[in-house]
Amino acid sequence: MYCRDCGAKLTLRFLENEGLIPYCEQCGAFKFPFFPVAVSMTVVNRAENKILLARHAGEEDYKLFAGYIKKGESAEKAIPRELREETKLTAVKWRYHASRYHDAKDVLMLNFIVTADEGEIVLNEEIDEACWFTPEEAREHVIKGSTAEYFLLGALNELGRKK
Ligand SMILES: [Zn+2]
Repeated sequence: MYCRDCGAKLTLRFLENEGLIPYCEQCGAFKFPFFPVAVSMTVVNRAENKILLARHAGEEDYKLFAGYIKKGESAEKAIPRELREETKLTAVKWRYHASRYHDAKDVLMLNFIVTADEGEIVLNEEIDEACWFTPEEAREHVIKGSTAEYFLLGALNELGRKK
């Protein structure tokens, strides 16, 4: 772990109410770690009986749609932007569902249940395929043990409870 400002090696130092935090001797300052934030989208149609899953470029399994929130952007802005970029579909409304830290990519994921119109899908280069599935099919097709599966199962429970 190195200082992002001066490049010196960081050590862990105890900070009251925070615990062990990376510390730079050269700067004489604590360096709280930065990490990106992304939106994860459980995309449903207006009737909420179909879920849109994506097969990302070069991958075999289906996941939820997701994208990094840009600097200065809100999650509410990132949702319609990402969905339009990846599918050309229009996000009609969305509600917050859950968050989880995704270790593999060192990113905090915020999952939203996003209602989208079932228009023509035009994929960008990040996505090989997008499919509308019934909840049962979506459960079957989503990659097992993933953050996407965790969000999908939670979202399906929440959607089921409303009916
Ligand atoms: Zn430093």
